[in-house]
Parts: sequence; C-alpha cells; structure tokens
Amino acid sequence: MSQLSSEVAEESRSREWLLISEVFSSHQGEGPSCGELSGFVRLGGCGLACVYCDTPYTWVYTERQQELHQEHKLYDPKEQLGRLHIASLANEILDMKANLIVITGGEPLLQINQVAKLISTVNESLVWKRFEIETAGVIVPDKLLTFENVKFNVSLKLASSGNADSKRLVPSAIEKFAAVGGRFKFVICRNTFQQDIAEVAQLQQHYRIPPENVWVMPEGVTQLDQVSGIQRLMPVALERSWNVTTRLHVLGYGNERGI
Ligand code: SF4
Repeated sequence: MSQLSSEVAEESRSREWLLISEVFSSHQGEGPSCGELSGFVRLGGCGLACVYCDTPYTWVYTERQQELHQEHKLYDPKEQLGRLHIASLANEILDMKANLIVITGGEPLLQINQVAKLISTVNESLVWKRFEIETAGVIVPDKLLTFENVKFNVSLKLASSGNADSKRLVPSAIEKFAAVGGRFKFVICRNTFQQDIAEVAQLQQHYRIPPENVWVMPEGVTQLDQVSGIQRLMPVALERSWNVTTRLHVLGYGNERGI
C-alpha cells in the first residue's frame, strides 16, 4: 500500500462522522420485515450503478454515472449529502420510537468502520435496537459480524441491473453473507423477467442459499408497476418456494423520498 493509500485508509478508520443522505421514520417497505415501523439511516455513495436504482440522489454525481442511470439526471452531492457525527446520529436513533433501524443507501458498507462504530455506540445504551443493513453484497461485512442484533438484507444485482459481472458479483462477499444467514433480495425486471428468474435460481443453487432466505421483488417506482409485478411474480415464487416482497412504500406513497 502506498503512503497516500495508507493515510486515506487510516483517515477512514478514525473518521467520527458518516456521510448521510437522509434520516427518517417510516415502515420498512421491502424484504423480511416489510411493514414494520422502522427508523431509516440512508448513507451516501455507491460503487455500483444500477440502471433502475430508486435512490440515484445518493450516487449520481458524475456525467458517467448520469449516463448509466435511466433518469439521466445529475445530482449535486453538496446538496444531497451531509456529514453527521456518529454520537449525534446514535442519539437520534435512540430517540426514535421504532425498534428496528434500517441502515441503507447507496451502499452502506462503503462506510463499514463508521457503521460499526454507530452500532457499538447505540448498543452501549440501555435501549435495545435491532439493525438491518441493506447492501448490494459486494463488500465482505467482517466488522459487523460480531453484533448479535444485526441482520443483512443482501440485494445481489442481476445482469439486468446494467453492472459488469465482476463488479456486481463478488464471490467472497456472497459466500460470507450466505454463511451467516443473510436474507437475499432480488429485483425482478419486467422486460427481463424470465432471464432474471433463471439467474436467481442459478445464484441460489451456486451459493447454496436456502429458499427461505430468498425474496423476489418487482422492479418499479409506480403503484401500477408494483401491482402488476407482484401478480406476475407470486406464482413463479411459489413454484420455487421463494418469498416475495413488494415495495410497500411505493404502494402507500408513490415515488416519494424520505418515507
Ligand atoms: S446498489 Fe443499490 S444504491 Fe447502488 S446503484 Fe444499485 S440499487 Fe442504487
């Protein structure tokens, strides 16, 4: 490692703040805890570039990223992101009514050292919170594995996401998430439905993910997309003993932020 890289790595380890997009309370909209009252911490930045991403404001900050996302809209990180001290954020979490805290993004594991510090700080209090980390599953989550109150919702990206295979599928990370009982959630696109289902089945078999840890979810940021998508998906999931999830927040609010 060069001196500069080690200085950057050291700075990242010792950093006492998180790069945040938004903090809010709502109901968990997707996955195993769908419908549960939750506190959300949305972190900024992502190393992938999914064409259908529903949170482009967390990462579409360059012209190249603008090209890759379907909306082709450029966001300004100075307007979209802010720094929040870990101790302040921990207090905000402790004040939330929700028992479940969802740490999402962007890709929250890009700030894994600070996420670990945040969870440690919350755990030091007498208030018990559960955490779900929503990740694309491309970073080994080693620093978070010792926490008993952390679960991983791993949304591996399929070919239809538009990411290169080498970026979206990192075997060492997927194996680790599978070994610790991660819950795998897959976005199934309307236009590549059969191909997406076949790829989920292949990944499930390859990484020996039990079917009870697989969720499939229709792509879409409109209520119509969600209703037609789930109708198409349910019988297919039933055949394979997979779970299904909608995007409950889209059904409840449409394509809104911070809910
Ligand atoms: S990994 Fe998640 S946050 Fe990143 S681009 Fe894909 S959908 Fe968006």
